[in-house]
Amino acid sequence: MEKLVVLGNSVWQMFLTLPPITQWAVSMLVVCLIIAHLFRYNEQTVHEGPSIFTTAGIFFTFLGIAEGLYEFNPQKIDASIPTLLDGLKTAFIASVVGVGAALSLKLRYTIFGVKRSGSATAAGSATVDDLYRCEQIKCGIDLSVPDNQRFLHAHHVNADKSDNHPKNIKLLCIRCHADEFQHSHMKENPDYAIFCTRFPKEPSPRARRREPVRGRT
Ligand SMILES: [Zn+2]
Ligand SMILES: [Zn+2]
Repeated sequence: MEKLVVLGNSVWQMFLTLPPITQWAVSMLVVCLIIAHLFRYNEQTVHEGPSIFTTAGIFFTFLGIAEGLYEFNPQKIDASIPTLLDGLKTAFIASVVGVGAALSLKLRYTIFGVKRSGSATAAGSATVDDLYRCEQIKCGIDLSVPDNQRFLHAHHVNADKSDNHPKNIKLLCIRCHADEFQHSHMKENPDYAIFCTRFPKEPSPRARRREPVRGRT
């Protein structure tokens, strides 16, 4: 712990000796990094963040070099050297911070992954019953009763059955599934007839108990 304090102190002392433009660049990158890690850590940040940090680092690198060269006067080389070095300091330190920030996001994502924001918000209001609900909006039939669960199918939206990404899976009751493009063969499945007798086209209030019953449209 003591060592950490000493390290933090020396980093701070080093920061104070930096040229103002470097301090500004470094603070901006660090503030963005803290926001990214603490408040905005999601899939978008993980995908876009690293390239933004790297690009910002490179931008400040060139800015630092440009600044150093701009002030450089070949007639007074001795007097110009410090400004050139200041510029180069900005350049390299900004690069280190930018690339380091990008690396920290990448590492965190690789080791810990990222919580899916969608499921996190849905989890608050969803119940176990919702896991067994037909996702076709006009249907929404509840198949949570164990004996009915077999009527709920996992439909592959892009028709590629090897693509099991959550975005490609739509949970459909057997009737809505049979209505999908090139799925009419499902109507020959014995389950289809059983389902249709058990759940006539106008779903009973019990089947739709979580939604107000509306007239057929
Ligand atoms: Zn399907
Ligand atoms: Zn359905």
